[in-house]
Amino acid sequence: MARRKLVAGNWKMNGSRAALAELDAIAQAAAAAPGVDVAVAVPFTLIAPAADRAPALAIGAEDVHERDSGAHTGCVSAGMVKEAGASFTIVGHSERRADQGETSQDAWAKAAAAHRQGLNVILCCGETEAERNAGRAERVVQAQIEKSVPDNADGSWFTLAYEPRWAIGTGRTPTVDEIASIHAIARAKLRMLIGDAADGVRILYGGSVTGENAATLLAVENVDGALVGGASLTAAKFVPIIEAAS
Ligand code: PEP
Repeated sequence: MARRKLVAGNWKMNGSRAALAELDAIAQAAAAAPGVDVAVAVPFTLIAPAADRAPALAIGAEDVHERDSGAHTGCVSAGMVKEAGASFTIVGHSERRADQGETSQDAWAKAAAAHRQGLNVILCCGETEAERNAGRAERVVQAQIEKSVPDNADGSWFTLAYEPRWAIGTGRTPTVDEIASIHAIARAKLRMLIGDAADGVRILYGGSVTGENAATLLAVENVDGALVGGASLTAAKFVPIIEAAS
């Protein structure tokens, strides 16, 4: 099944109002690549100004709380980020799993909350280096998918991102065969969980994607786009990835 490529940036805890100027050239590149969906997840404080500045881009959050409202000091709900102008959120990013102890069950609850509020979701999974070295990468990713993908997931709102933790921000990537193998396994697992809807779900690769390696990585079977951290912070680095996807 043909799936449109999605190139999504993740600014993490970076950026400022001044940095939003980068979105101008990113939006131009997105307009020049009508066959590619382009999205940028930014810190909560930048969602509203980013959405105002780049209305043609999908602007998203990097996380949401699993509850719609309540006594959760310091947290931000899916409805709040939607009202600020977000159309999607990332959930289950490995940095939140590592720093905040989030689990696959948390990612499931956050994905469900986001969908309830009308947000699209990019749900992350991926093994650690120790798990890969122990030959457990496939089982770890399968288990994460099983625990975190909502039953009603489909490609109209749900995207999976495979991000091996050891490849994030390190300049290292798996081989194309390793990526193809995990993406095929992820697709098969999705099919077991949600049936034919799995064919419409995009599976992104994330982890040290750059303008130099994007064309190779995006050509791998079942790789439907990229989730990009460091190289999404400037148009100079992000635009070549959008171009490689088109
Ligand atoms: C990420 O944080 O999702 C990511 C893939 O980061 P980087 O591209 O910097 O490896």
